[in-house]
Amino acid sequence: MIDNLIQLTDDPEPLDTRSSSSVKPWKVLVVDDDPEVHGVTRFVLRNLRLFGRSIRLLHADSAQEACEYLRQHPDIAVALLDVVMETDQAGLDLVKFIRDDLGLAECRIILRTGQPGYAPELTVIHEYDINDYRTKAELTHTRLVTTVSAALRAYDQLHTLAENRRGLDLIVHSVADLMEQRAIANLAEGVLTQLAALLKLPLDGIICTHRGSPLGGDGERCYVVGAAGRHARYIAQPLETLPDPRIVSAILDSVSRRQHIFSPDYTVLYLKAAPHQEAAIFIDSGQTLTALDRPLLDVFVTNIVTCFRNVKLVERLNYIAYHDLLTGLPNRLQFIADLDGVVYAGTDIMVALVDIDHFADLNDGLGAEIGNMLLVAVAERLQARLGSECRLARISADVFGVLGPEPQVNAAGLLELFHDPFEVGEYQLPVTVTLGLCCHLDNIDSGITLLKRTTIALNRAKRSLSAHYEYYMAEMEDNTRWRVEIIRRLRLDFQMEKLQVWYQPQIALATGGVIGVEALLRWPGENGFVQPPDVFIPLAEYSGLIVQIGAWVLEQACAQRAQLAAAGFNRLKMAVNVSMPQFRKADFVGEVARILAQYQMPPPLLELEITESIAMDEPKVVLQSLEALKRLNVQIAIDDFGTGYSSLGQLQALSIDCIKIDQRFVREIDNGKGGLFAETIVSLSEKLKVISIAEGVETHEQAGFLRGLGCAVAQGYLYAKPMPAATLLEWLQSREAS
Ligand code: C2E
Ligand code: CA
Ligand code: CA
Repeated sequence: MIDNLIQLTDDPEPLDTRSSSSVKPWKVLVVDDDPEVHGVTRFVLRNLRLFGRSIRLLHADSAQEACEYLRQHPDIAVALLDVVMETDQAGLDLVKFIRDDLGLAECRIILRTGQPGYAPELTVIHEYDINDYRTKAELTHTRLVTTVSAALRAYDQLHTLAENRRGLDLIVHSVADLMEQRAIANLAEGVLTQLAALLKLPLDGIICTHRGSPLGGDGERCYVVGAAGRHARYIAQPLETLPDPRIVSAILDSVSRRQHIFSPDYTVLYLKAAPHQEAAIFIDSGQTLTALDRPLLDVFVTNIVTCFRNVKLVERLNYIAYHDLLTGLPNRLQFIADLDGVVYAGTDIMVALVDIDHFADLNDGLGAEIGNMLLVAVAERLQARLGSECRLARISADVFGVLGPEPQVNAAGLLELFHDPFEVGEYQLPVTVTLGLCCHLDNIDSGITLLKRTTIALNRAKRSLSAHYEYYMAEMEDNTRWRVEIIRRLRLDFQMEKLQVWYQPQIALATGGVIGVEALLRWPGENGFVQPPDVFIPLAEYSGLIVQIGAWVLEQACAQRAQLAAAGFNRLKMAVNVSMPQFRKADFVGEVARILAQYQMPPPLLELEITESIAMDEPKVVLQSLEALKRLNVQIAIDDFGTGYSSLGQLQALSIDCIKIDQRFVREIDNGKGGLFAETIVSLSEKLKVISIAEGVETHEQAGFLRGLGCAVAQGYLYAKPMPAATLLEWLQSREAS
């Protein structure tokens, strides 16, 4: 193809053989208050052709008049200026006006002066980029011609450079704008501007087309991707919409023959980068390709093909940046961009986050491949059922985002989509989801905020044991802010050692003797407690702070047990509550062993209490740690028994030592409901051969009933409230004395 090009361009004629009709004359402005100077200049330059173009002279008698001309003709190539006109400085002032006010950097300036000794400062000549400074006497006929032609050549070079820079600018910007779909159009326009400058053609003379729409889709037809001047409005339109049938058929001809076309009055360059990258550039002049242009075009054609290829590459990267490759859905970034659009438009819309329950377990249990297949199946079902009005995205591993009108996007409708199981490989997988929804656009400034609100609703729903969805409400956020503040203060007070551990005695129901104490965390403040443990412990768990605090409680409790032992109470058991995040920590068991050793505590005297829900939540993690703890000979109690959902089989697998009957069931004893649950739990503990401890025993009636059932231990206000370490010692001593 390029050989072809070179053959044709073996044209010995230089640029100036172009027909004068297609080439604009050079504009040269003559500014002088002396009519004779105008006459002489006109006489010398009138019929001159330089570099293939004639000269059009513009005559101004004053600097003021010159200003008007310059304003109207920004393409004046050369200005011949008299220095002294209305004022001594009028010419120099005009120079400043040209450069500073009009910003015409390309216009060449030749200063002429009548007074030989009157020369402007050298710095002015440099600063204002003045080409030449001559006395009028110096500008003889020949001198004038050489000076003007040198200036025109300089102007031509500067102008071409500037055009190229504009083209380059467009290319550079199209790289920056590649995130937008008009990238190819911008690139083509940059290419076009460069070509026009290169070939010294008006911008209208070139049209770039590309097979396939630059906006995606339609891969077969040719589209206009770069055009300027009167053709600019056809950018991104099909080629056939161009009003000039000559251009349309020339381009179609080139594309179907897959080659350049050189006809007497036009040229079409055919470019092919990849199977789906075909472009054609129509150049509205058959004679523009001179020998000089050859190497340039050669480099040019190679470069533009690479450019197109790069654009495709970046488009691919762009796709990856905004899409999830597994499901093909838009990703979180794209979803946020979609939300931005909604926020900006103020549309009435519902946003939902759909979180697959227990996805991690499923992934572990059936393998990542099945997990992936399930995600694809969920994506497909959502896409198929939600319809085209809704936008979908995969936000994170097992969370999908949905955006759409409320009739389609609502809790009931979305939950219904998960009614039927998913067919994945050979499995029929039932899937439940938790939803967060938000339609609150009040005081919202960005898609991110909208997503955050929906996430708050989702987290709220996930924390709830009963609800499968939550709609965002402003109070939730206040709540979030409040929670964050509590966590911040708790962390601070913990670091400042303001937390305390209190102790509540545990009594053997058969003998009435004290067998142990439970360590309970307290957060004292200025007036009473800052927050009760029921409130701040879940927050400490949520933030992970419980790992450090829990370790500290364990240490305090063991230290306290050592002191009690030293005071003679050496058989007392110490019960300490443990939270899930502590179990998740890699060396929890090692830490327990270290503390036991440090305080010389017999392991069977340490009883770790875990809630039933913890024990069932992540059986794998817990089971391993529990087995290791059992090997240490530490005792394990299940706290709040009866509030979770564990089956007998699961409990047996845990090898526990003790079950704590939740205070709810103890309260039922004298609430007229009898103690059916307490009874069941006590007999269960007998079957499992574990000790039962009743919590929250407040009345003698409860104590008597529990003793009758065979419950071993009781703990509650009837005997003692939780108390600080010092009070506990006094309490134990006074009880022993009595
Ligand atoms: P829990 O382990 O079930 O603790 C028993 C709770 O019942 C304690 O509340 C105790 O003060 C209260 N209580 C004891 N006897 C009676 C009674 O006769 N009547 C009534 N109405 N209540 C009684 P507290 O201290 O507010 O602790 C609440 C929960 O906070 C605990 O429930 C436990 O789950 C958690 N917790 C407390 N300290 C710690 C700790 O150091 N670590 C961890 N992870 N959790 C802790
Ligand atoms: Ca407890
Ligand atoms: Ca409890």
